[in-house]
Amino acid sequence: ALQLGVLLGLGSVVAAAIAAIARAARRSDELSAQKTAFVSAVSHELRTPLTTLRMHAEMLQEGLVAPERLPVFYDDLAHESVRLSRLVENVLAVAQLEEGRRVLQLRPGDLAAQIRDIVDDQARHVERRGFPPVELALPDEPVPVQNDPQAVEQILVNLLDNALKYAADARAAGLRVALAVEGEAAVLRVQDRGPGIPEADRDRVFDRFFRVARERDAHTPGTGLGLALVRELARGHGGEAVALARPGGGAELQVRFPLAPAPASAT
Ligand code: ADP
Repeated sequence: ALQLGVLLGLGSVVAAAIAAIARAARRSDELSAQKTAFVSAVSHELRTPLTTLRMHAEMLQEGLVAPERLPVFYDDLAHESVRLSRLVENVLAVAQLEEGRRVLQLRPGDLAAQIRDIVDDQARHVERRGFPPVELALPDEPVPVQNDPQAVEQILVNLLDNALKYAADARAAGLRVALAVEGEAAVLRVQDRGPGIPEADRDRVFDRFFRVARERDAHTPGTGLGLALVRELARGHGGEAVALARPGGGAELQVRFPLAPAPASAT
């Protein structure tokens, strides 16, 4: 019953997302070709998890699942729901930012503790993709940053999702997430040992709907929305997001946040 409730809830969220996509697609002609590709990519991406969810739910309803296979079924349902929610959240988040309907709620926080919690939350997802645990490098001291915790989570989850997707062939080498204080900035790095991002594309990957030719040709699922959202959210913090080549091979995605000034009373 819980899973079915989740399904019904997702249905209305998906409807809202589709309306947002349609609005976004109407707004500008300039990007219309890219947007058509985008709408078809999103529709395709919605269809796959929805089909899995529906088939699993029906088989459960009909009592067609052997008791010993139930845990796998529930696990798949949960996994596909999460995948679907992420996609829908990204579409809605981009539409909201674009329409000026979302203002980041910045408040002082310890970015290091937040990063640790998010990586912990993602541990199961990482494991499921066959990667070893993420190597986490955090400063010993708290890292004070005025931030919107939900936006920070969207940033890091998108960067991790990309690393899991594009560096899958190099999964044995694992992923590294590092936070460091450099001058006036807190610098978050997400590093993989995958194919990396071609130099000519390192700025364009942050454009909405842009995907490296390799992915377009290989039909790797994706919408070209994740990094656009990451950059928007980074800028909403007064920061910036950039892509680099990781020394030794792979991609490095960097997000810089301005450090919060030390509180005046802390003397
Ligand atoms: P999507 O993953 O849905 O295509 P993104 O905006 O998240 O959209 O990424 C845009 C493009 O940047 C991807 O299609 C891919 O070509 C490239 N890219 C992103 N992250 C990585 C990475 N870690 N390694 C290699 N290429 C990447």
